[in-house]
Amino acid sequence: MESEINAYEKACVDCRSCMKGCPMLYSFTISPKKLLTKFTTELPTSDMAFACANCGLCAHMCPQDIDFGKVFTASKTTFADDKNVLKKYGYGAVIFHQKSSFSRLFSTTKKFTTGEYTHMAFMPGCALSSYSPSLVHSVFSYLRSKCSGIGIIQQCCGTPTRMMGDMAQFKMYHSQLERDLEKMGATTVVTACENCFMSIKTYAPHIKIVSLYSLLEQIGLPESAKERHKNAPKMALHDPCPTRYEKEIHKDVRTLLAQLGLPYEEFKQNREKTLCCGSGGMLELTHSGLAHEQMRSRANQTACESIVSYCQSCAESMSKGGKNGVHLLDLIFNPDFAMKQEAQGVLKKWYNRFSSRQKIHALKDDASKR
Ligand code: SF4
Ligand code: SF4
Repeated sequence: MESEINAYEKACVDCRSCMKGCPMLYSFTISPKKLLTKFTTELPTSDMAFACANCGLCAHMCPQDIDFGKVFTASKTTFADDKNVLKKYGYGAVIFHQKSSFSRLFSTTKKFTTGEYTHMAFMPGCALSSYSPSLVHSVFSYLRSKCSGIGIIQQCCGTPTRMMGDMAQFKMYHSQLERDLEKMGATTVVTACENCFMSIKTYAPHIKIVSLYSLLEQIGLPESAKERHKNAPKMALHDPCPTRYEKEIHKDVRTLLAQLGLPYEEFKQNREKTLCCGSGGMLELTHSGLAHEQMRSRANQTACESIVSYCQSCAESMSKGGKNGVHLLDLIFNPDFAMKQEAQGVLKKWYNRFSSRQKIHALKDDASKR
C-alpha cells in the first residue's frame, strides 16, 4: 500500500470531489492532499479507518483514480490482530452476529432433486430473513414455480467480518458458504442482497452470480403485481452502493418498477454515483454518529416521504433517516403491504431468521412426494 499512497499523494490535485457525499472524510480533514501527505509517513488511525463505509464513492468521483476506501480497508486489516482495537469498534457484537449467522440454528440449505434448475440456489441474505420470513418464502415459492428444482440457502456471506478487516476469519466463513453451496450442487446463486452479490462475485468467481432483480426481469413479475402501485404516492429510488457498477441491475430494477406502475423519481446521485445509506462498512456500530448523520442526509435529499430500495439494510437506513424505507420485494410479493415496514427489535429479527430457517426445513422435495 505504501507505494500506492505515495503515487496517490503525488497525483492528488486537492479538488475535494472525493468529499462530496462521503460520510467521513470531512470529519477528518479539509484537504485530501494533506491527508495523503500525512499517510506517507503514518498510516490512518483506527478511528479514521473504521469510519470508512467502504462505499466506493470517493474512487468514482476522483479525477485521478485515487481510492481512499482502499487505503482505509487496508488499514483495517492491520488492526485485525489487535482484538482490543477491534473491540473498541464493536467487534464483539460482530463476532456474536457471525457465529449465530453461521450456526445451524439460523442457517440451512434445501436442495431439490428434480427439475431444470437444480444447479441454482436462492440466497435471501441475513437482512431479508431477519425482516420477513414470509416475504422470503413468497419470493422463493414464486421462483420455484418458474425455475423448477431451484434450491435455497439461508446463510450469511461474511461481509460484516470482512468490513471489520478480519480477513482470516472472513475467509473461513466464506469457505463454509462455498462448501454448503457445493454440497447442494449449486453452481449458480441468485441473491436478493447486494452485499452477498458483490461478496460472492469477488471472492468466489467460480460461482455464477445472478441478481434476483435481473432474474425477475427475465421470468416476469407475477401477473397480480403488474400495475398494482399505479395509484401509490411517488417514491424515490435509492441504489445500494455495493452494486454501484452493476448497470444491468440498475436497469432491471427500473424495469420492474415500471411494470409495477409505481410513480418514482431518481435521486440526483444515483446508479454509479449513489451514496452510502449509512449502514455500509458496519458504520452504525463503529461510528454511529456518522452513520445516523449519513442516513438523515441521504433520506432528506428527496422530497418524497417514501424511499424504495432493493436492499433491506438500505430500506431500514432510510427509515432511520426519517423517511419511510420500503423494499422493492414487498411491492411485488406482499399484496397486503401497508406501504410501511414495521420497526422490529433485535430479538424479533433473530426470531424471524429462526422462523425462516424452520420454514425451509419444512419444505418437501418434490421427488420424495412420489
Ligand atoms: S477527488 Fe481525488 S484529486 Fe480530488 S481531492 Fe479527492 S483524492 Fe484528491
Ligand atoms: S469509501 Fe466511501 S466512506 Fe470510505 S472514504 Fe470513500 S467515500 Fe468515504
